[in-house]
This record gives sequence, C-alpha cells and structure tokens, in this order.
Amino acid sequence: MVASRAVGYPVNLDFNYDALGHLQQFSINNAGDPFIAGNYGVHSRDFEVGVLDWFARLWEIKKDEYWGYVTSGGTEGNLHGLLVGREMFPDGILYVSKEAHYSVFKAARMYRMNCVKVETLASGVIDCRDLKDCLLKNKDKPAIINISIGTTVKGAIDDIDLVVQTLEECGFPRNRFYIHCDAALFGLMLPFLDRAPHITFKKPIDSVCVSGHKFVGSPMPCGVQMVRIEHINVLSRNVEYIATMDTTIMGSRNGLAPVYLWYALNRKGYNGLKKQVQNCLIIASYLKDRLRGAGVSVMLNELSSTVVFERPQDEEFIRYWQLSCQENIAHIVVMPNMTKKTLDTFLDELVEKRSIRFKDGKNQPPCVASDIGKENCVCPLHI
Ligand SMILES: *Cc1c(COP(=O)(O)O)cnc(C)c1O
Repeated sequence: MVASRAVGYPVNLDFNYDALGHLQQFSINNAGDPFIAGNYGVHSRDFEVGVLDWFARLWEIKKDEYWGYVTSGGTEGNLHGLLVGREMFPDGILYVSKEAHYSVFKAARMYRMNCVKVETLASGVIDCRDLKDCLLKNKDKPAIINISIGTTVKGAIDDIDLVVQTLEECGFPRNRFYIHCDAALFGLMLPFLDRAPHITFKKPIDSVCVSGHKFVGSPMPCGVQMVRIEHINVLSRNVEYIATMDTTIMGSRNGLAPVYLWYALNRKGYNGLKKQVQNCLIIASYLKDRLRGAGVSVMLNELSSTVVFERPQDEEFIRYWQLSCQENIAHIVVMPNMTKKTLDTFLDELVEKRSIRFKDGKNQPPCVASDIGKENCVCPLHI
C-alpha cells in the first residue's frame, strides 16, 4: 500500500516513534485494571494513567470521578461502554442510529441486547423525532443510547443536547438512561475546534471512547475508553489468578500502546493537535469546493473532515486511492498526513475519468439525493 494514496480511511500516517523502538525487546502487558497493581511486573500502567488523565482533562471529568483504560481501538471501547450500560440496565433497550459504526450492532448481538435502529437525517445524524417515537413505545424500559460523535461514512455528529432533551421530553429521568458516546474519530478533533459542541462529562453522558490510531496515528490499533467511576463497580469481579480486578474486555493488554499514545499526545500538545485539526478542516473544505466546482455531487458536514461524494464508477480507481464506498457514495477523510498536492492529483484523475465516462451522454452521474440530500446532488435531475 502506498501511504500517500490511502485517502479513504481515517488513519493518520504522519507519525514517528523511532525514539521508542527499543521497547520492542520487552513484553509489556497491562492485564487488568490500570489503577490496581497486579503481579505481573513488566507493565506501563503509569503511562496508561497519564494518558487517561490527559483525556479526563479534555473531556472535562475530575480525576477521581472517572475510570478508564487504553483499549485495542474504538470497537473495544464500544464493547465496553455498551456492556456497562447493559449491566446497569439488564432489561434496557439499546437505541442506535442506523448510520452508527457496525461494532455497535456487533455488541448488540454479542450481548443479546434488544436493539432499536433509529432513522437518520440526510446529513447522517440521528433523527431525534424518530428517537422520540421509539422511546415513547418503550417507556417502561430503561434506555441505553449510543451517540455517534462522527459517523463512519458521513462524519455526522449526533447532537448530545438534543438527545438528552428528547429523553427528558419522553419522561426518562437521569437514573433510567445510559449514554455511550462513540467518538472513535472526532473525540480527538472536536475538542480543538472553538465552535464545536464540547464532548464533556458535565453533560449527562456515561462513557466515551476514541480510537488512538486514527487522528493521533500509531503503528498499532489502540484507543481510550472512559466511564464514570460509579458505574464500573457493576463490572468488577475479583480474579485471584492475577490478583487484580477484571474490569476490561481483554485479559492481556498491549502495554506498548499507552507509551506510544502518551508520547504522541505530549509531543504534539494541545496546540499542535489544534493546528492539525484546523488544517484538516481547511483542506476538507478546499476538497469539497473543488469537487463541487468540477460538477461532482458532494457533502461536507459542519465541523467534519469527512468529504462525501458521488462514488466513482471505476473500481480500479477506487482501489488505487483506497476509497471506502457505500452504495452510491464514497468518502475521503482528511487526516493530518494528507496534503493539498495529493488531493489535487486525486481530483485531476477523477475529473479525467468522469470526462471520459460521461462524454457522449450515454452514461449519467448517479443520483445521490437520498444519500446526501437534494441540495448536494448535481445529477441531471437535481442540477
Ligand atoms: C473507526 C470507528 C470505530 C471503530 O474503531 P476501531 O478503532 O477501528 O476499532 C467505531 N466507531 C466509529 C464511529 C468509527 O469511525
């Protein structure tokens, strides 16, 4: 795979961990609860707690009010957050928008949860009118809600405040709902945008997860999961074998990941990350304008770096640029390693392919109005 052409998947390939290379000679294992010492000596729990404290500050929760750990990625965070929700409310119903990441539906199957798929708007955000209808049909059961802070395909940000307001309107008091925020990609981006709604535990949310290998970038998949400490007791089971509390999904855990994350976050710092996020949004906006200028149907959600556009018709082109596609649409997730120059090359090639394909009018660009809204569609019908 040529790194600079991998534009479809949200991974930042701009990293350098050479300074940590010598750690490979150890088998670093953080099995169990990061806050409780186990018997196995070669661990990086101090770094892990350092990373968690960093995120606690970012997501506005006091050190003594959170529990968390460094996971193997966003999926494990979802598996953990939804498990805590289910253990708190064994008869609860999981509400999740149909555009949420597939790992949420995987969790629902694994845990045999009663799962209600909620409709979305064209932008990709959860439709709170439909959520309301669904909640009202099941008023007697507690609600476990998955909120997507950046959906995978359209980069749409569900509105936490509106979801909470909907719960209130439907008569769900605070002790009858659990909110898990799947912030796999945007959990590290939104906090650095001045205009963005905060991801904050000051709101009535219960857990948040993020992927470490996406925006930060790392050679191995990793992530962070954070939950209110009072909820974690439902998962605590004493495991004598390693003399630690078994509160995570995995047994053995990657001890290199916390060191890598700690290193990257501290090297970049808040200011470095802020600059990178701002730059990604500027480039995403540039890409959107150029696509629109070239007559391609395109959508870019506010505060998002995920540019959604009409799916190219050429499979080889899709593979070459590592585009990820869903039915009639494709997307590019602008990451810090992507330059205007790479995207200009992409655009030139796309424009050339389209001009050949649509030359004599035999082929027409597909209609994507139902995917990204009429206003973003420039197919012959909607132009
Ligand atoms: C990528 C992604 C995930 C899964 O994260 P992994 O780190 O790949 O396990 C979950 N949710 C969303 C919204 C994502 O974009």
